[in-house]
Amino acid sequence: MAGQEGLEPPTAGFGDRNSGQLSYCPSDGMAKDHNRQGQSVERGIGRGLTRAWLPQKTGDQDPSSVRQTCPMSAQRISSRIAAIAESATLAVDAKAKALKAAGRPVIGFGAGEPDFPTPDYIVAAAIASASVAANHRYTPTSGLPELRDAIVAKTKRDSNYDVTADQVLVTNGGKQAVYQAFATIVDHGDEVLLPSPYWTTYPECIKLAGGIPVEVFADETQNYLVTVEQLEAARTSKTKVLLFCSPSNPTGSVYSPAQVKAIAEWAHKNDIWIISDEIYEHLRYDGATAPSIPVVVPEIADHTIILNGVAKTYAMTGWRVGWMIGPKDVIKAATNLQSHLSSNVSNVSQRAAIAALTGDLSAVHKMGEAFNRRRKLIVGLLNEIPGFVCPMPQGAFYVYPSIKGVLGKTIRGKTPQTSAELATLILEEVEVAAVPGEAFGPSGYLRFSYALGDDDIVEGISRIKKLMAEAV
Ligand code: PMP
Repeated sequence: MAGQEGLEPPTAGFGDRNSGQLSYCPSDGMAKDHNRQGQSVERGIGRGLTRAWLPQKTGDQDPSSVRQTCPMSAQRISSRIAAIAESATLAVDAKAKALKAAGRPVIGFGAGEPDFPTPDYIVAAAIASASVAANHRYTPTSGLPELRDAIVAKTKRDSNYDVTADQVLVTNGGKQAVYQAFATIVDHGDEVLLPSPYWTTYPECIKLAGGIPVEVFADETQNYLVTVEQLEAARTSKTKVLLFCSPSNPTGSVYSPAQVKAIAEWAHKNDIWIISDEIYEHLRYDGATAPSIPVVVPEIADHTIILNGVAKTYAMTGWRVGWMIGPKDVIKAATNLQSHLSSNVSNVSQRAAIAALTGDLSAVHKMGEAFNRRRKLIVGLLNEIPGFVCPMPQGAFYVYPSIKGVLGKTIRGKTPQTSAELATLILEEVEVAAVPGEAFGPSGYLRFSYALGDDDIVEGISRIKKLMAEAV
């Protein structure tokens, strides 16, 4: 089939989810290392999690055995889809919730969602809209005109970025915007620069679009922020897009305005598109700012797609409203895609989003105060653990300690060599769930969401501290 040449059948499950042979990309592209300056750049996504974290996928079967048992001599699951790993973050969260439901005193640091309810006035708007017959119908694929107008106004208010309604497409959560952005501009064989640690969904969307994710890793000593020099070292003639996410999931790091400017100017100079995920824009601390890319370097607006949504700002993860903003031709093409994929977002959810975006930001400021307190609490506690090094992040609600100092030590008869093994050990021994770094890039890290109560934070990290005190 066109566009699938070079695909190799999946040969392993999550343990090898990121190995080159699973990538939806030409095998020669995976084998090469284009790093011109010997910096930490990896072709494709190179490491895996242990199976302990996730159920095996259908694609775990040896393709030859699949063929033997399948009379039509075809794989039941397409290579393209079988190569997709389950979202590790959702899997960790589900595992923690299942243990909790079974009565275990699990403390889960896996969830990527605020623990607050959606503000009352937003819920009230949704309730009122549910009894209006007009809201029982389809809306335009691109979203209710009032919502697109509200997104235009909000983008001006929060980012000082001028856009028009035909540059906006309302999507089923930010996640659909991520998928559609890559699907719309990435062609088979295009390379996408992916600053690492990265949110776990990006590489899957890039590969589904036929692109090749090219990791550019920044470790804790550079606050997990990539430099222009690193990006330049990873750039090739096939580089089409840079993914940019600030504040970042999973690290909480925020690029300074000067860093944003340098990166945007570099991208513009090299004709590279930027997909900028701004979903954590309002969750910032210590006076950090997160200017929007096309405001800092207006020349790149015609090659920029902004992704956003109400999930994190208004504690609305369950309502599934996001959006993409971009050049008109891109938005038109993405709307065509969405018209065959999911049509419009639920009418009632769109009405709730209008209430959210046309209201003020007092709810997010209130949540932000709690997050800020918890951020300092958890960073302090994590840094008390020998072998853990946790930078103080300036955004989102995640912290991302390096735990490399613990690897190779023996704890209760086990000697974890990777963060996935350490996360499993912590969950099994003291019933605390954190997401291992392998879900976001290299091993050696754990992601903790601090969107949970202060008491749980103290209890959960104290359990880990006690367990680590046994390390020999
Ligand atoms: N982008 C980033 C960086 C995220 O962390 C998330 C949620 N985890 C999303 C986009 C998507 O959010 P949603 O689909 O819930 O709107």
